[in-house]
Amino acid sequence: MQAKETIAVHRGTIKDEMHGGILSPLFPSSSHKHLDMAEDVYPRHANLANQRAVAEKMCALESGGEAALVFSSGMAAFSTAMLSHLKSGDHIVLQNGVYSGALKFIQNHFSKLGITYSVSKSCDVESIIKCVNSNTRAIYIETPTNPLLKIIDIELLVSFAKSKGLFTFIDNTVATPINQNPLEYGVDLVLHSATKFLGGHGDVSGGVAVGSEESIALMTDYMNDFGGCLNAQSCHLLERSLRTLAIRMDKINRNAMELASRLNEHPNVTKVYYPGLPSHHNHKVAGEQMRGFGGMVSFEIAERFDATSFQRKLNLIIPSNSLGDLETTLNSPYQASSSFRSLSAEEQKKSGVTTQLIRMSVGI
Ligand SMILES: *Cc1c(COP(=O)(O)O)cnc(C)c1O
Repeated sequence: MQAKETIAVHRGTIKDEMHGGILSPLFPSSSHKHLDMAEDVYPRHANLANQRAVAEKMCALESGGEAALVFSSGMAAFSTAMLSHLKSGDHIVLQNGVYSGALKFIQNHFSKLGITYSVSKSCDVESIIKCVNSNTRAIYIETPTNPLLKIIDIELLVSFAKSKGLFTFIDNTVATPINQNPLEYGVDLVLHSATKFLGGHGDVSGGVAVGSEESIALMTDYMNDFGGCLNAQSCHLLERSLRTLAIRMDKINRNAMELASRLNEHPNVTKVYYPGLPSHHNHKVAGEQMRGFGGMVSFEIAERFDATSFQRKLNLIIPSNSLGDLETTLNSPYQASSSFRSLSAEEQKKSGVTTQLIRMSVGI
């Protein structure tokens, strides 16, 4: 098996037969010859050369993937995954702590489609099992979660799901395929927001799904109807970014570990959430299923400090709504982050997100 670094650099690269260039050429055409073509090439058909290059690289990076599909955002990948794999009458169990945009999508759109859902009481396999009923078709998990970095045991979850014939989805955005490969544990479909670490430079929006040929073919049909395809230019940019993913994540993992350890010792920090710390609730499981603990570190500043003033006083670190960039960025999930704004006050409290919580995305 090739090293992740090698896959990241080489896999999927389009040969430049015309000029001998090292990089994949950019083929921006959205219109293609119609006569004598083996297939009908069109952005929404997911068969542009630059779309395929990204899909092939991501498929190889998520070891165990048969096929992959690239989208215009993480939410395009998520919504297409949900609506292609679930139908009226089905029930899905969501792990507590999944991305708030995913939860919001389900709250806004499932009832009119006749799909039901439950959110587990806590982020563990036992409480997910409690939500399963006779109509349950699928389980949706995310590990580590954002912003509280909760870890769920993927192997245990999959063994339960398989015993009941349930389809499993995972959002692998926070971990990245460098740190965690859920398909190796038998998860059916891996989803990513490429807007985060995969893009990594804060200049591209995208999403990726990796899974079986069957799942990806189904999603391709739906994407063709829903339209969430990514243009060739962004695919080219994303491919450029993925070439350095392994080396970026290696550095980010080390920086995050160092920062988490130092924050853990800091007198004005009352709590640190990082799966790499031995004090983390599921450090052992994280160590087993992850090769690195990732770039997200959350912590609580002491009560006497105000989260807004704290953010204004930073010199280098940029308070920002997104994550996964080269720069270290942070925000207060409680206040106004794009993710938590959509939750009700009660949901925020239940989620464990306090006024003192700071979510940090560690850079290179
Ligand atoms: C950002 C994010 C998404 C959604 O991705 P978009 O590219 O913003 O649509 C999904 N899951 C997680 C964990 C994220 O951080």
